[in-house]
Amino acid sequence: MSRDGNQLDFDFIIVGSGFGGSVSALRLVEKGYRVAVIEMGRRWTAENLPKTSWQMHRWFWRPGIALRGFFNMRFFRHVTILHGCAVGGGSITYACTMLRPLDKVWDSGSWARLEDWKQVMPAHYDEASRMLGVTTNKILGPADKLLRKVAESAGVGGTFYRTNVAIFQAPEGVQGGVTMPDPYFGGEGPERATCDGCGGCMMGCRKNAKNTLDKNYLYLAEKRGLKIFAETRVVDVVPLDGAEDGSCGYRVTAEKSTAFVMKQPQSFTCRGVVIAASALGSMELLFKLKDKKSLPSLSNMIGRYVRTNSESLIGVRVPDTQDDLSKGVAIGSGIYIDEHTHIEAVRYPTGLDSMSAWSTILTGGRPGPGRVALWLKNLVVSSVLHPIRTFRIMQPFGWARESVILLCMQALDGHLDMRWERTWLWPFRKSLVSRGERIPTFIPAANKFAELFAKIAGGTAMSMLPQILFDIPGTAHCLGGCVMADSPQRGVVDGRHRVFGYRNMYVCDGSVVSANLGVNPSLTITALAERAMGFIPMKPETRGRIRRA
Ligand SMILES: Cc1cc2nc3c(=O)[nH]c(=O)nc-3n(C[C@H](O)[C@H](O)[C@H](O)COP(=O)(O)OP(=O)(O)OC[C@H]3O[C@@H](n4cnc5c(N)ncnc54)[C@H](O)[C@@H]3O)c2cc1C
Ligand code: SF4
Repeated sequence: MSRDGNQLDFDFIIVGSGFGGSVSALRLVEKGYRVAVIEMGRRWTAENLPKTSWQMHRWFWRPGIALRGFFNMRFFRHVTILHGCAVGGGSITYACTMLRPLDKVWDSGSWARLEDWKQVMPAHYDEASRMLGVTTNKILGPADKLLRKVAESAGVGGTFYRTNVAIFQAPEGVQGGVTMPDPYFGGEGPERATCDGCGGCMMGCRKNAKNTLDKNYLYLAEKRGLKIFAETRVVDVVPLDGAEDGSCGYRVTAEKSTAFVMKQPQSFTCRGVVIAASALGSMELLFKLKDKKSLPSLSNMIGRYVRTNSESLIGVRVPDTQDDLSKGVAIGSGIYIDEHTHIEAVRYPTGLDSMSAWSTILTGGRPGPGRVALWLKNLVVSSVLHPIRTFRIMQPFGWARESVILLCMQALDGHLDMRWERTWLWPFRKSLVSRGERIPTFIPAANKFAELFAKIAGGTAMSMLPQILFDIPGTAHCLGGCVMADSPQRGVVDGRHRVFGYRNMYVCDGSVVSANLGVNPSLTITALAERAMGFIPMKPETRGRIRRA
């Protein structure tokens, strides 16, 4: 027999508090629902964020070895996936770049024709931008100015743009670092400080200038009654009362994510569930739930069509620079070197010199052992011919002040699949494994651009070491794996994010993105979640009682 709504602990439980989860939380509490967010990561404040990257335990997330930070790296055969893990999801560690993709992305992938996307999405992008305080970057640092100069020299100066960023930048006549009352929500939001261009966004902003989700969507949702369970990982979701399609609600089981033993399992009942655990997290959770028969009717398409932005990281180090290249916002500007290839100027703050362990002198060549041999040869030749210069490039001190990272993305379609299998390396339990074509680890046109950059800046071009040694590209933009489609044979959710095979169950995060965006994805994930929540009706008895933010 179906339970009365009041016999359930919550109306909705949301798994994960990133972009999709936070939007869902606010919009559902505004509609009068009793909502809980269960988040694996910790809460972060200016006081507990790391001051330098040497404080690994506050930066990296790997609780099994006592690393309880907000940034995680997962290694697969085809790709290394970088992602956030915190109350506020990836927003704590991300670089706040908020770009809209080109219209053509709505015509490709399994979401094409599910909606008149080009017609409906602009309004959702506008609302997402308002909530996240997106503005055109006013702070061009030395690295951005160099990017513009090199782009002009390469004949693509006209494509130079300032990024749109979710950062509180000083109004005309106000300095960086000045605390001001809530500038975004008519006084209902928290007070904020103006950005001082320290370049530290990816280490978590300690200046209260970055518009992380705990300062907008989650902040406003908590004020309206949202309950957040931090450091808590969802491990099971089963339909209640024998209704196999979830029409009587769900039991969600969770445990302490930061405990080694004594994981303190707890369970909650709810009418509906929103899975918002990121592309990787949602795939992993749904694979597990299907495999252990908690949700056996989930589509067999979980893990299919996993996309990256075909990213490649290269860089330039300028040991003799008079400028501090770490200054500015983390990603302050970008250019297009051709119609498919987009490069952004990225920086890390002073104090983040441990990143030097990832960089080495630029190496092209064919992927595989030949490329490793070429890299070793380049290193030896450079050390013999220019020993001092080579030492200055490779030593860690001053790396952040002297380096510009070039984040190169391509909007060419291609995808991987993820499977839930036992591996020969660890056959005792199943885990996510990647399958498919290899993604290129370097983009020749981008390498050429880095060489020109190095020549003009008087520095040396750099490759990322793991890309050379293991021929595995890294991505901070893992998308897909629970894509939208018109049937469970082609995707995991429908055009309104409803999970095929279940009632009142949604997926709202990067995993539903069904095409290669070619730009940083968070604004699109936020806009899609705004649209998805718009389809859920008000809770009848609270109609009109709760003010929309
Ligand atoms: C260093 C870095 C820089 C980036 N810069 C940019 C940028 O400038 N612009 C941009 O657009 N994008 C950027 N990104 C990417 C961006 O962070 C992600 O695309 C975005 O956060 C994805 O949003 P989401 O809602 O899918 O999930 P997320 O924001 O990743 O949130 C998912 C949350 O779910 C939680 N979770 C997972 N599994 C469980 C579970 N079982 N139980 C409970 N909780 C769970 C996770 O801890 C996480 O907090 C960057 C990423 C990184 C790593
Ligand atoms: S540049 Fe510095 S002050 Fe500005 S948002 Fe990033 S971390 Fe905060």
